Amino acid sequence: MLIFRDITTLQNHLNNLKNNGKSIGFVPTMGALHNGHLSLVNKSISNNDITVVSIFINPTQFNRVDDLKTYPSDIDKDLELLKSISDEIIVFNPESNELYSGEMKLDDFNFNGLDQFMEGAYRSSHFVGVATVVNKLFSIIRADYAYFGEKDFQQLRIIENLISEKNFNIKLIRCETIRSEDGLALSSRNNKLNFSSEKIATNLFKALNFAKEKIDILSIDEIEEKISDNLLNFKEIKLEYFVIADELNLKPVKKIRTEKYRAFIAAYVSGVRLIDNLKLY
Ligand code: AMP
Repeated sequence: MLIFRDITTLQNHLNNLKNNGKSIGFVPTMGALHNGHLSLVNKSISNNDITVVSIFINPTQFNRVDDLKTYPSDIDKDLELLKSISDEIIVFNPESNELYSGEMKLDDFNFNGLDQFMEGAYRSSHFVGVATVVNKLFSIIRADYAYFGEKDFQQLRIIENLISEKNFNIKLIRCETIRSEDGLALSSRNNKLNFSSEKIATNLFKALNFAKEKIDILSIDEIEEKISDNLLNFKEIKLEYFVIADELNLKPVKKIRTEKYRAFIAAYVSGVRLIDNLKLY
């Protein structure tokens, strides 16, 4: 497996492959890899000649210093995991300086309102940080396909918007959320949960499922109220938001008009911030 830490060597290598007509799939990650990430990697491997996985904890997308400092990281384990899938994967694992040249400068984007609600409302400048690093990575790697998880649905829509805003010649492939047996969406942040908190965290998925079951029976206000009342029963859970929003423009809705809605949730479970979402129809 080839591991690159600098842009020029990676680009020289990729240019050779592209000149030989190889198609390139790209999976951006922040490491602490789990089966959710690996499902994206496997999809890329089955659809492309070459798969590039980036492992980079992007400082500019963290709005809290302590969150960045405690973000799980285990590069040796990540490389082992990737190697166990395929020895052919190309890993890009740059230092911050390599991508940001010492200066943590954010770029300007027009998110067309996609950053107004949910994560955008609760984590200021988070998506500008995400778009800044993805813009850099897309420009460096120039892949044919990029694989993003529906687990971070708002991020995925923002990157779809970025691709059209910046005219990237890359197709985003949406990948379904991978969950543990009891429904908890896999996340690097789950590493910070102990066994009992992990069980309690499954209530977020239960809340999303409750919304899916009741969407044609109760009003959206009633669903939201019942979910927040129910989550109050768990002292470990601090709900940040539960929202039903349009899949396309991500605007929260109070009435069902089309079938293109998703329920979105964010909550702290024992101090660890988790997000999840579910398609309602
Ligand atoms: P991260 O390392 O958290 O930045 O995630 C890298 C990519 O993996 C993003 O496109 C995520 O949406 C995706 N991802 C993370 N967790 C999951 C999951 N449980 N199922 C599917 N994709 C995921």
